[in-house]
Amino acid sequence: MPTDDLREDASRYLMHTYAPLPISIVRGKGSRVYDLEGREYLDFVGGVAVTVLGHCHPDVVTAIQKQAQRLLHASNLFYTEPQVTLARMLVEHSFADKVFFCNSGAEANEAAIKLVRRYARQKHGDARFEIITMQRSFHGRTMATLSATGQEKIQAGYAPLVPGFTHVPFNDLGALERAITDRTAAIMLEPIQGEGGVHVADTKYLQAVRELCRQRDLLLVFDEVQTGMGRTGTLFAYEQLGVTPDIMTLAKGLGGGVPIGACLATDAAAQAFTPTSHASTFGGNPLACSAAMAVLQVLLDGRVMAHAKQMADYLSKGLHDLQERLPIVQAVRGLGLLQGLELGIDGKQIVTDCLQRGILINCTADRVLRFMPALTIAQAEIDRLLDVLTNILMKRS
Ligand code: PLP
Repeated sequence: MPTDDLREDASRYLMHTYAPLPISIVRGKGSRVYDLEGREYLDFVGGVAVTVLGHCHPDVVTAIQKQAQRLLHASNLFYTEPQVTLARMLVEHSFADKVFFCNSGAEANEAAIKLVRRYARQKHGDARFEIITMQRSFHGRTMATLSATGQEKIQAGYAPLVPGFTHVPFNDLGALERAITDRTAAIMLEPIQGEGGVHVADTKYLQAVRELCRQRDLLLVFDEVQTGMGRTGTLFAYEQLGVTPDIMTLAKGLGGGVPIGACLATDAAAQAFTPTSHASTFGGNPLACSAAMAVLQVLLDGRVMAHAKQMADYLSKGLHDLQERLPIVQAVRGLGLLQGLELGIDGKQIVTDCLQRGILINCTADRVLRFMPALTIAQAEIDRLLDVLTNILMKRS
């Protein structure tokens, strides 16, 4: 179907929750995608930090094909090996002892919120249920996760919100300390606020938050939906920040493009879930788990991770060079292959300009260009991005 017809049908048949860019993507390979008319684009969006190994990585494709021939779905009324094996792999390579699987980041955070409430109620009684989260945070679009999210625009029109969330400024220890009350059960944050404009948590702040949680007997929840799965240079961001949470959520990159989410926790926290206290029909589905196992295996092999680190340094240096040369660039922030370039102007037009030159980028928090390429991105591909960006931004400076 021609792109214009597709746009018309999309407008007629889809609820208008998105405003897509005017191309129809039909195929992808590595860091390239192709539209209906055969035009090639270099992909620095990566399905919004999803396709960590690039599009259609052969190991992921093979894993899906093999599993699809064997079993697509069975239900959590029975054991299925891919689910248990994936859980074991995640446990063996993280702080966690137990995993709950679901289908998205919001669901993973919903599970974390529910786990916090059950744990706190069990340990401290009914009065402890509040979770402190951060201003500018993003935790998802379900009622509980949008209530946890510290952005009014995400909450607009959905009152009454789910009670039990307090928002404090990010990286501000004093504000966090002042917000803790007898009702506080947990602190929940993203090690890097991705949707909020690529703001990295300060290591000293995180260490102090960990200590606060220990002193006040609070659970520490890291939302690593965007930062997990090698995105920041280590398998999980917490590993390089010197702080271990009690609960961590994953999604996005976990399935390399197949929908899957996970809530990981220590035994102490996880025991608060018992049979019937939480569930998901599709959670831990064999197809999704097989894809995630393939992704994890490639990351654990180490070569892609080592390459990603080099590319992250290269991209970060290139973006900092841009900042030095162009006053329109106000800041460069990020970790690993999650980088943000804050502009002095609205970034929407820059996204369109890049699209017209065959490069997909994203803009978040109005003025922050965000780059989340595959960990397999090549240096020459980063060079092309930097060339195109330089040209576009010079014209706007
Ligand atoms: N948490 C974080 C940090 C995210 O970046 C996102 C999505 O952007 C979510 C949660 C929600 O994930 P999903 O869209 O899969 O529900």
